[in-house]
Parts: sequence; structure tokens; C-alpha cells
Amino acid sequence: MTNKEGRKSKLRSLKWKLLFSLAVFTVVVLVVVWVFQILLLGRFYESAKLRELDRAADDLSESLTDPRADLGVEAAVYAEEYQMYVRIFCHEFGAMEEIAAAHLTGDYYIRNISSENIDRLYSMAKAEKNGTYAERRTVKPWMPDGDEGTVVTADEKKEIVFVRIVHSGGSEYVVMLNMIYTPLNATVSTLNNQFVWICGIVIFGTLIFAAILSKTIVEPITRVNAQAKKLGEGNFDIELEKDMGYLEITELSETLDYAASELSRTENLRRELMANISHDLRTPLTMISGYGEVMRDIPGENTPENIQVIIDESTHLSELVSDLLDLSKIQSGNVRYSFDVFDLTAAVGQAMDRYKKFKVHEGYSIEFLSSEHVNVKADRVRMLQVVYNLINNAINYSGDVKEIRVEQTLRNGCVRIAVSDRGEGIAPENLPDIWDRYYKVDRVHRRATVGTGLGLSIVKGILEGHNARYGVESALGYGSTFWFELPVEENKETE
Ligand code: ADP
Repeated sequence: MTNKEGRKSKLRSLKWKLLFSLAVFTVVVLVVVWVFQILLLGRFYESAKLRELDRAADDLSESLTDPRADLGVEAAVYAEEYQMYVRIFCHEFGAMEEIAAAHLTGDYYIRNISSENIDRLYSMAKAEKNGTYAERRTVKPWMPDGDEGTVVTADEKKEIVFVRIVHSGGSEYVVMLNMIYTPLNATVSTLNNQFVWICGIVIFGTLIFAAILSKTIVEPITRVNAQAKKLGEGNFDIELEKDMGYLEITELSETLDYAASELSRTENLRRELMANISHDLRTPLTMISGYGEVMRDIPGENTPENIQVIIDESTHLSELVSDLLDLSKIQSGNVRYSFDVFDLTAAVGQAMDRYKKFKVHEGYSIEFLSSEHVNVKADRVRMLQVVYNLINNAINYSGDVKEIRVEQTLRNGCVRIAVSDRGEGIAPENLPDIWDRYYKVDRVHRRATVGTGLGLSIVKGILEGHNARYGVESALGYGSTFWFELPVEENKETE
């Protein structure tokens, strides 16, 4: 198994991940609901009752310290409001004397409590740090004859006996409260039954929801994936769907569509380039072998002119091959530039010498305008390659007006070299593409008059390798100006 396959087999599909996440989420929600709504319901209810008792005990304790308060009335109010049995004792000289009470009918524990049990509760409260003691009890029906009964039923009532010791004015008081409540057992068992149903419905709903979600989300992704696979197999002409129902997936599809059209364009250009290159390579080879055969077979043809043709074609061939190698090196980023400070003006001036024979033989006027000598820090050989390529293009596309001008200007610490011709120009819609790999405005290939015809891609690669600004201004019928800029280098040594 390859690494990739191993990694892939560990990945879960989006569909299962979605289902798994939703299942986990549902279970967590159900457990939380069960814990709070069912398991802890009784405890919450009981602690709410305890809080009520605590508050009542607080208020009654305050009344004990307030000489104006009528304890009997206060006790009656609490008994009425919270349905609790209230008894307040004063503890003096080891004896308990009841000073206020609010009686309710019912089986309250403290209603008929024995004095031993009062003492017991008192000592329990005394033992607590805050003087408060709460006792939970099961209500046993009180029988006058003392038989406390033994029947226990599901709705057996519960009660809380709440005792608080209060100190006020040098005396010790005991506030005793008693509340009866019905435990929530019946409610909890009803809720438990309901919960089983809720679980069933929620789990069923989750499964349906997950199925719908996975259908609506996963399906378009699967479709895009299938189309992307076709793209990977080299089928660049596929039409990717434009509306996938979701913004992100539609964007992904559009990006793939763009990639497909770019790949298809590059592929076409590559094929075209191969055809052009083969043509360009074959032409000089045919010339060389043709002239060679003529010179071998026809005695009087061994002339210096014919030999010159062979030499020129060989030179052209080797230039073409070296340009091809150059382009592939530049485009793969394998070029090492040797940055040196040199006199750019002088270098361009020397380069102009190469075009002298065009001036003479073919009627071209190629002039170089510069006001002063300027140094730059760049790769001298590569910069001259840029200049040659631009001039070659100017010659190739100058048409009938054979005027070419190379101009050097200075601006904002930068030197600009601009190569202008008055030829056919370039249509605005083609301007952005001319620097592209393999691009030609004129789709019908023609052999370059000078140079190899891979010019602008090499120019772009070299100038970008120097972080130089570059560009072109052109108008159809008026000609073109190709330019680039480099920072001026102030070098004292070369001056
Ligand atoms: P080639 O010259 O072999 O086509 P280039 O990369 O040098 O390759 O140029 C790309 C295209 O840009 C050319 O096909 C041509 O259409 C256009 N072009 C370049 N220079 C000029 C120019 N000076 N005038 C008009 N068109 C030009």
C-alpha cells in the first residue's frame, strides 16, 4: 500500500463524519436533558424547599431580635404562605419553653413531637457550626394511639424538619420549622417514559437530518470531485457545473473550471510551440544540408557566399537551441544571475554595433539616444539579452517603416531603456498576453527575420529575476514601445 493510500484509508468520508458528529451531539444533548430534567429533578426540588425554609428561618430570627415584632403573627404569616408548621422555643435553664407557634393540621413531625425529640433536634443544631440543622423524613401518618403506621406507598410524602438556634438579648431561641412535600417520583417516572419516546424521535430525526444533509452537501462535492478527476486525467475540455447549490462548492467548481481553461490554453500553446520549434529547427537544417549537397555535387557552387549561408544557418540554429535552453532554465527558476555594477549606456551602445549590417543592407534606421552614462547593478549578459530581444522584435514587427529607436531616460533614480518601432503595433486585447509562455498574436507561424522567436518570455523571466519594472505601450498601426527600468547605481569606482 502506498503512503497516500494508507493516509486515505485512515480518513473517514464526510458523510460518515457528519453522521458521527450529529450522533455524538444528539447523545450529549439527550444525556444533559436526562441528567437535569430527570436524574437531578428531585434534588433540585428538595433544595428549593430547603432554601424556602432557610429564608423563613432568617426572617423569623430577625423578628426575634426586633422587640416591636409580634412573633405569633409572623409565625402565622409564614405558616400560611409556605405551608409550614412553625414553633419557636426559648431555651432557658436547660428547659424549652414555647413562645410562639403557628399550627397547621396535618401529619407534621413537630406537631406532636416529644420533649426528648425536641432536645435531640436542639443538640443536633447546636453541634452544627451555623446552628442550623435540617432533617429529611418520610411522613408517617400519626395515629392517636401512638401506632405510627407502616404502609409505604409510591407517593409517600416527605418532610423536612428545619431547626435554627438564634441568640438575642442574652437568650437562646430555637426556631423549628416543618414542611411537608410530595416527592416528584411520579413526575420523574412520567418524564422517564416520555424520555424514551423523545430519545427515539430525536435519534430518528437526526438520522433523517444527517441523510438529507449528506445528500445536499456531500453529493455536489462528489460531483465536483468526479469532474476534477477527469481534469486530472487530461480531459481539459470538460464543462464544470456552474451552480452547485452552495457558495463554497460553486466557487470550488468555478476555480476548477478556470484551472481547466488555463490548462487547456497552456496545452494548446505548448502544442503550437512544439510545432513552431520543430519548424524553426528544420528550416536551417534543410538549408544547411541543401547547400552542402549542392556544393558537393555541383563543382562551381563551392563559393564563399554559399559557405556563408551554411555558417549563418548554423549560427541561427545554435542561437535557437541556446534560447530554448535559456527559456526552460529561466522558467524553472534555475538561473543564477551574477549581479555586477556596469555602465548600462556603454553596454547598450556596444550592442547597437551588432545591428550595423541591418542599417546598411536592409535599410533599417536603428538609433540609440542617451544623454549621459549610467551605471546599474545587474547581470550584464542577461540585460544585453533583454535589449537584443526587444530590438529583434522591433525589427521583426517594424513592417515597412524601418525606424527603430532605443532611448535611455532617467527618472526618480531609475534608468529606463525603451525600444520603439513604428510597425504594426499590438491590439489592446492582446497586450496582456504577449509576455505569456508560448503566446503569439499572429497565429500563423512565420520564421523570425532575426532572433529565435522566444523573446518576450525570456525578457519577462530575466526582468522579473532582477525585480525590474517593465511594460509595453502600443497602438495598432502606430507601433510599439517596450521598456524596462532599473535603479541607477552610484558607483564611485567605475566613474
Ligand atoms: P515571437 O516574436 O517569436 O512571436 P515574442 O515572445 O518575442 O515571440 O513575442 C510575442 C508576440 O508579441 C509576438 O508574436 C508578436 O505578436 C508580439 N510582439 C512582440 N514584439 C512586438 C513588436 N515590437 N511589435 C508588434 N508586436 C510585437
